[in-house]
Amino acid sequence: MPALSCSATTCIYNKQELCSKGDIKIGGSNAHKPGETCCESFQERGQDAMTNSMASGMGCTNIAIDCEAQNCQFNESCKCTAGGIQISGSEACCCDDTKCSSFRCG
Ligand code: SF4
Repeated sequence: MPALSCSATTCIYNKQELCSKGDIKIGGSNAHKPGETCCESFQERGQDAMTNSMASGMGCTNIAIDCEAQNCQFNESCKCTAGGIQISGSEACCCDDTKCSSFRCG
């Protein structure tokens, strides 16, 4: 499983730039550059404690990644095989504001 670092700190699953979700899905089936990918698992952190407590787990360094960006060098049968990836989206309000910065067109 790739190591994951994520700057989308507005996501309920983000714990100190690690992800607590356990697995994530990256979109971008026609992507040719990082900006055409997104983390489809992004959920904006709400104001109410109920929503935020849905994601009370710990952040994990390594995470399973399903990825639709089949033009990426690291994509094998819709799984990410990179050693480590960076998800970006420090001001994200929705999944389209995030991207996999590690996408490499192959
Ligand atoms: S590095 Fe490539 S295969 Fe891995 S999540 Fe990012 S876009 Fe998908």
